[in-house]
Amino acid sequence: EVESVEQLMEIPDDTVRGKIVFYNRKMNPDNYYTFRSYGDISVFRSKGVEVAAKKGAAAILARSSTYSIDSFPHTGVMRYAEGIDSILALSVCTRDADRISFLLKTFPKARLFVKTYCHTYPDTISYNVIAEIKGSEFPDKYIVVGGHLDCWDNSEGAHDDGGGCVQSMEIIRLFRATGYKPRHTIRVVMFMDEEIAQRGAKKYAEEALSKKEIHIAAIESDRGVATPMGFSADMPDSCYVALQKMTELMKSWGIWLVYPGGSGVDIGPLKAQGVPLMALVPDSQRYFEYHHCANDTHDKVNQREMQLGSASMAALIYMIDKYEWKY
Ligand SMILES: [Zn+2]
Repeated sequence: EVESVEQLMEIPDDTVRGKIVFYNRKMNPDNYYTFRSYGDISVFRSKGVEVAAKKGAAAILARSSTYSIDSFPHTGVMRYAEGIDSILALSVCTRDADRISFLLKTFPKARLFVKTYCHTYPDTISYNVIAEIKGSEFPDKYIVVGGHLDCWDNSEGAHDDGGGCVQSMEIIRLFRATGYKPRHTIRVVMFMDEEIAQRGAKKYAEEALSKKEIHIAAIESDRGVATPMGFSADMPDSCYVALQKMTELMKSWGIWLVYPGGSGVDIGPLKAQGVPLMALVPDSQRYFEYHHCANDTHDKVNQREMQLGSASMAALIYMIDKYEWKY
């Protein structure tokens, strides 16, 4: 049992060989923004597996990345380093992680057996799903809003990222309901394969480039469905100043946070084309109760919180459409 990859590195290979490495690190509660604590744990699925495999471990078990004490293993993408034999890697729910830790401390000779039925199916063809309202003045200029259609196999993917897809589609409905005719083409994209290889995201950016499509903005909603707090922005300074002014108008309904940071995995490849990128940032306190586990079901999504998110994106898109970045 170790708490970090560094700690495992200190242990002699002979001690690790043939054993199961148990990464039992609790998610750090000190960060207000919970995503900042995610990397400490997800590293076990990449570097953690690599170091364990190099030392001859038989498998790794990793404590789930959640603050909850629950019975859901929280999973995620795994990467094996090239040239290193793949070893079994399993996620263990926090309740069982505590139990295993207790048993190991109480009975140092305790033995653990693992059996898994996981396997990888061959790739198959799938698609991004796209809908748009043609722009009345600039049909060849696009504002993209989207989420991703795929999810982890252990859940419905309601928060990750069914909610983001619904919020994006809702933009089109809201504009039609209000009778607003956008000047630019508003394009909703539900990307495919975000969780594994981001092939939908890469393909979209590739097509945009080859068709010489001009994107004036892209927004992604992929951080769970909760009360929106604001936007994270990855864009030139001139656009960022305009974004700050535009979001100033949204304070009365709780949009108070704008900061330079990442956007989204799916719109990320558009950065190379100079597209100003944004992510909707909801309150993240409960997100890791649902993230990548069987608990991510539709009954956990609050309709009103979801609507607040789509309304916030719609308001921002309306202003970008109206003023471009000259607000
Ligand atoms: Zn996602």
